[in-house]
Amino acid sequence: MLYIYILVFITGTVLASFIHVYVTRLIKGESIVFPRSHCPNCNHVLRWYELIPVISYLALKGRCSKCNSKIGIDSFLSEIFTGLAFLLVFIVYGFSYDTLLGFLIVLVLLSIFLSDFKEMIILDSTIIVGILLEYLILYLDGGLRSVYHSFMYGVFAFVLMFLIKILGDAIFKRESLGGGDIKLAFFMGSILPYNLFLISIMIGSSIALPYALYIAYTKKRSELAFGPFLALGLLIVFLLKNDIIELLELLIK
Ligand SMILES: [Zn+2]
Repeated sequence: MLYIYILVFITGTVLASFIHVYVTRLIKGESIVFPRSHCPNCNHVLRWYELIPVISYLALKGRCSKCNSKIGIDSFLSEIFTGLAFLLVFIVYGFSYDTLLGFLIVLVLLSIFLSDFKEMIILDSTIIVGILLEYLILYLDGGLRSVYHSFMYGVFAFVLMFLIKILGDAIFKRESLGGGDIKLAFFMGSILPYNLFLISIMIGSSIALPYALYIAYTKKRSELAFGPFLALGLLIVFLLKNDIIELLELLIK
């Protein structure tokens, strides 16, 4: 079992490393394939042993092997986070389609985290690829019936989020939720039934609140990246969904 845990962790770090490259290049308007990964300071092209997730960063002590300039730590942190999150998903759901969905949620969360905090955008390709893979997994798991149900829940989440945006825009007299947040709601709603979707919004908002207050207090920015908190709320509720459903049933009785 230990080997499987290690394999799951490594898979997470490798995918995180890829997503980090994909997001940082796309938000800068660069091609994903070319040029090969290089040091932004001296353009030294990284060799294969300098591209191993987690390990290369530690071995190089966070510095370029040629010019000794510092390498950003965000790639390293993304890899550690994703590896651990993959492990957590696997511990909760084992060998199941829920594990695949969980992995997908983690990767979407990472991608949104990297683009939304840095550039205040959620890449369309993140959401589109996310939704396609999501529906592929749902189809493999439950067939067309499950796809149909998920789609209806997704539409519900999308419409609800859109209404919240219209209301928010009217109250705050500026854009309250971005288009990316609303598309993300469709992704979330397709995985969670409406009651769990609402809980995930509440959890995401509660985590966002201290951050929003901090931003408002320091006045660093007028806008708030809400996407990462929504996706975090989704991951938390997805991991706890069976307990939450049980709790809801107890409360209703
Ligand atoms: Zn360098």
